[in-house]
Amino acid sequence: KLNEHIVTLQGNIRVFCRLRPLSSKEEEEIRNDDDAPSLEKSIQYLDDGKMLFHGAMYEYDHVFSPSTSQVNVFAEMQSAIASAMDGYRVCIFAYGQTGSGKTYTMEGPRGDRGVNFRALAEMFDLSEADGNVAYDFKVSVLEVYNETVCDLLVRGEGGTDLAIRKNKEEVYVEGLTECVVEDAGDVEELMQLASRNRSTASNNVNEHSSRSHLVLSVKVAGVSAVSGTRVVGKLNLIDLAGSERLKNTAASGQRLKEAKNINKSLSALGDVVSALGDKKAGHVPYRNSKLTFLLQDSLRASAKVLMFVNINPAPKSAGESICSLNFAARCR
Ligand code: ADP
Ligand code: MG
Repeated sequence: KLNEHIVTLQGNIRVFCRLRPLSSKEEEEIRNDDDAPSLEKSIQYLDDGKMLFHGAMYEYDHVFSPSTSQVNVFAEMQSAIASAMDGYRVCIFAYGQTGSGKTYTMEGPRGDRGVNFRALAEMFDLSEADGNVAYDFKVSVLEVYNETVCDLLVRGEGGTDLAIRKNKEEVYVEGLTECVVEDAGDVEELMQLASRNRSTASNNVNEHSSRSHLVLSVKVAGVSAVSGTRVVGKLNLIDLAGSERLKNTAASGQRLKEAKNINKSLSALGDVVSALGDKKAGHVPYRNSKLTFLLQDSLRASAKVLMFVNINPAPKSAGESICSLNFAARCR
């Protein structure tokens, strides 16, 4: 009997599963291991949103098989981007274990960019095509590491452990740099600054980035030429810390603290998103982590939330993959 993990659509939450291609090394490992099941057997794509994964059925808004291009993935994001231009608050998250393709999906390599760059390009295009509304765009980039907020667009010193504050209108990070962007060149420049800042702040960039959440936020303000009304929307693009469980039970000190903080913030995120989908849930627990507290304005019932679950299809990752697939199923 099949286990059923069916994600039913609830309001403004969309869950997408994306599997990355195997690396040539992983392909070779499978070829050399007589016990490894073939991918054709262990993973079957049934239709747009359904997948049989190691014997269990999963259903999401969309399942992107390994051959799906960045262009085709982004096509499913387009309406959410347009919503941000219309004044909605939108969050797009990438969730998954380290190495599952989160950064590829959000940032993407040079020459085949991911959601972040495509979203901003789309916003510029929409702005240009709309003669009735004058838009401006402000970008901030921050990192949440060990429950502290760090500004990644700071030039020079400072910008770490910033406070999150709340006033009548919004939740904001005190002292966070916001930069006006007008074209793809501006965006490219800021992203480079952010990644330079991120790497100078740590001695191992890859490890550090897999243990912190990266939040790129775009504040879009549109003023109607006809009525003069001003609408402000926000798009948050979040490359989450790796969801893998701590394998080394002997871990202590800094590593253990990091792992606990990641665990806490990812489960807080799951709790908040599932409370949003559940109309009966009254209380939404934003305060349980910095990330959900920071994003609370953009995690309301009126907001739009898109969650990627990134999956490494290699058989040796199946355990972690199943955890990620179940997290996603809980997010509905
Ligand atoms: P994560 O950010 O989740 O740790 P990455 O995005 O860095 O994972 O991906 C791990 C590796 O897999 C990288 O070498 C990346 O280039 C590659 N990769 C991920 N997704 C894809 C994809 N859809 N197509 C091709 N290569 C991918
Ligand atoms: Mg990454």
